[in-house]
Amino acid sequence: MMDKFYCPKCKKIFEAEGEKKEWQDPIYGYCFKRTAKCPVCKTESDEYRSEGPSLKKSGEINYPFPKCACGSGEG
Ligand SMILES: [Zn+2]
Repeated sequence: MMDKFYCPKCKKIFEAEGEKKEWQDPIYGYCFKRTAKCPVCKTESDEYRSEGPSLKKSGEINYPFPKCACGSGEG
């Protein structure tokens, strides 16, 4: 199944199968997100979400929050 990912280097959206990445966060506990390698520059890219909660207004966020198990279960 192909998902959409966003390459921060190319600033482009691409489709890939992606892989699940899991880790233990000292604050959030168990976390996971889906990543895929950009087909152009091989940069590890995060999943692209076209619609999101009011997480991102105008302004910069240092790093995208991963999707954690502690949040509300969506999708
Ligand atoms: Zn790229």
